[in-house]
Amino acid sequence: MSTVTAYAATSATDPLIKTTITRRDIGDHDVAFDIHFAGICHSDIHTVRGEWGRVKYPLTPGHEIAGIVTEIGSAVTKFKVGDRVGVGCFVDSCRECAQCRAGEEQYCDNPGMVGTYNAVGRDGQPTQGGYSGAIVVDENYVLNVPDALPLDKAAPLLCAGITTYSPLRHWNAGPGKRVAVVGLGGLGHVAVKLAVAMGAEVTVLSQSLKKMEDGLRLGASEYRATSDPDTFVELASRFDLILNTVSADLDLAGLLELLKVDGTLVELGMPENPMKVPAGALIFGRRSIAGSLIGGIAQTQEMLDFCAEHDVTPEIEVIQPDYINEAYERVMASDVRYRFVIDTASLR
Ligand code: NAP
Ligand code: ZN
Ligand code: ZN
Repeated sequence: MSTVTAYAATSATDPLIKTTITRRDIGDHDVAFDIHFAGICHSDIHTVRGEWGRVKYPLTPGHEIAGIVTEIGSAVTKFKVGDRVGVGCFVDSCRECAQCRAGEEQYCDNPGMVGTYNAVGRDGQPTQGGYSGAIVVDENYVLNVPDALPLDKAAPLLCAGITTYSPLRHWNAGPGKRVAVVGLGGLGHVAVKLAVAMGAEVTVLSQSLKKMEDGLRLGASEYRATSDPDTFVELASRFDLILNTVSADLDLAGLLELLKVDGTLVELGMPENPMKVPAGALIFGRRSIAGSLIGGIAQTQEMLDFCAEHDVTPEIEVIQPDYINEAYERVMASDVRYRFVIDTASLR
C-alpha cells in the first residue's frame, strides 16, 4: 500500500479537508498514475452531501481524472510509463455479464460497476476518487488521452464528455437533426460543443439569457430562456432530441411538447423527486422519455479521440485544492464557466 495526499469529505455537512488516503499495491494488471488534474462534477457534490444515499466517510470524490503513468503491473499491455491517461466514473465491473461483454460496463448488472469512489473494490477496500495525488486502476478501465488534448481540459471529458457524447450517438445526433440542451453547466456546455461537432443544429434552453453570448460562441444557433413562456410556444414540436442536464425538478410536460413526433427527451440530471409526466405529452406525438448513464470504456475512448479530432474541449477554471469548498458553493449557485478543474500538483 502507498499513502497519498487527498481531499476528503468527513460528513454530509462539513467542508472537505486535506488528509491522506491509501492506494493498493500495484497488481499484475494495474496501472499506477500521478493525477495531474481532477474535474469537479455536480455528482461529486450530490454524493458527498448524502443526496444519493449511503456514503462511507471519509470520502475522496473525483471521477474526472487525468494524469501520467508512473508504474505498470507485469501483465499490463495497453500502457507504459509516461503515457497520458484518464479514468472516469468506474474502475471495475464483473466483465462477464451481457452488458460488460457488449462494452457497456456502466450498466453491469452483476452486481454493478465499481464506482471510482464510494464503492468497494476487488480488494475489499473502499474506492477513493481523483481529488488526490495518485491512483491505481486496472488497465481495462484506464483511457488513453490523445496528445491533442491538454490534461486539464481532458479531465472533464471523462464524465461530462462521455455522459453527453453517449446519448448524442445513441439517438443519432448529426446533420439534419435538431438538438436542444437544457442547462448550460458542466455537462450542458460540452453537450453543445459535441452536438455541433457532430453536425446537429443546437439550441440551448437555459433558466435565463445571462450566458447567451457564451452559448452562441460554443456553436448553438439559438439560445432561449425556459423562464419565458414564449419559448414553449415558439419552439413547439421543434426538436428530435432534448438532453436535460438539470437536476432540479423541471416542467417535463413543457419540454416534451418541444419534441417532434418520435422525438426523445433524455434525462441526464437526477432530480430528487419522482418525475411527473402527463401521458398525453407522450401519446400525442409518439414521444419518448429516456435516461442515460455515462458510457462504456470503448465509447469513452471513442469520445476522447473524437474530441481530439474535432477540437472539442471544455471551458475550464483551474483551481487549487484549497478552493474546493468554495468551488462547490459556486457550482450550487450555477456560478461556473463551465467546469472547475483541480490542479493536483500540491497533492503529489
Ligand atoms: P452543473 O455544472 O451544476 O450544471 C447544471 C445546470 O443546470 C446549471 O448550470 C444550470 O444551467 C441548470 N440549473 C441549475 N439549477 C437549476 C434550477 N434550479 N432550475 C433550472 N436549471 C437549473 O452540473 P453538471 O455537473 O453539469 O451535472 C448536471 C447533472 O447531471 C447533475 O445532477 C449530475 O449529478 C448529473 N450527472 C449525470 C450523469 C449521468 O450519467 N446521467 C453523469 C454526470 C452528471 P442554466 O444556468 O443554463 O439554467
Ligand atoms: Zn460526473
Ligand atoms: Zn458486468
